Amino acid sequence: AYAVELKNVSVKYGNLDALKDVSIQVEEGSFLGIIGPNGAGKTTLLKVILGLIKPEGEVKIFGRPLSQAIDKIGYVPQVSNFDRSFPINVLDVVLMAKLGGKVRFFHQYRKEDIEQAESVLDQLNLLHLKERQIGKLSGGQLQRVLIARGLAVEPEILLLDEPTASVDASSTSQIYELLKELNKEKTIIVVTHDMAAVSSYFDSLACLNEKLYHHGDKHLDQETTK
Ligand code: ADP
Ligand code: ADP
Repeated sequence: AYAVELKNVSVKYGNLDALKDVSIQVEEGSFLGIIGPNGAGKTTLLKVILGLIKPEGEVKIFGRPLSQAIDKIGYVPQVSNFDRSFPINVLDVVLMAKLGGKVRFFHQYRKEDIEQAESVLDQLNLLHLKERQIGKLSGGQLQRVLIARGLAVEPEILLLDEPTASVDASSTSQIYELLKELNKEKTIIVVTHDMAAVSSYFDSLACLNEKLYHHGDKHLDQETTK
């Protein structure tokens, strides 16, 4: 079965077709880039895969309905959409994700949860920042913390929304090297405007496009580049 399969998926916001008749098949182990102009429906597509929006059409995760597979997917939101004013430190952000957003006092976390969260932070070279307040992180650090948070549920599929939009060039290549490493064990899907990443990192590409088609139809072209 495919890691992710969408068949004839459409989403409307009022009269607006955010996605129209989109079909896509993502092989397990892929490193897929989803590109397309602003407003093409990239974020909407991620929300469909996450089950945050119920579309028309069919969504399957490892061949099964989304409702049975939701814990297999980790999500990394755009840094700019993440509220960093909340007074919480890096380790707590990861632990809360692991516990499904439930806030607990630190001493109530189970030892194995803390150890797993710390090992994810270590993998992302963030362990030395575990006590840092999220408001005090650089853009690149916060991006890596959000990746750690997405990994906390130990997902088989990781979805990332514009993971390099808020970071400088050296953090960008660091983040893609990290994703490439994670891709050895996980299916990775990235929404991006980053054309350099398109040519050097992804093994397949899906283009959400509205400009090539008449009547405002959105269409998805999918190809394997390597
Ligand atoms: P992208 O991520 O490619 O920029 P989006 O999926 O965010 O595209 O949005 C697709 C289209 O749907 C855009 O025209 C956007 O303005 C619109 N849109 C997104 N979310 C909503 C919403 N909650 N209500 C109404 N329109 C929306
Ligand atoms: P992105 O570039 O990732 O699509 P946006 O800034 O367009 O981010 O959207 C941020 C949030 O606002 C998203 O949750 C999106 O669904 C929502 N949104 C976007 N466009 C509209 C719209 N026209 N009406 C209502 N909500 C919208």
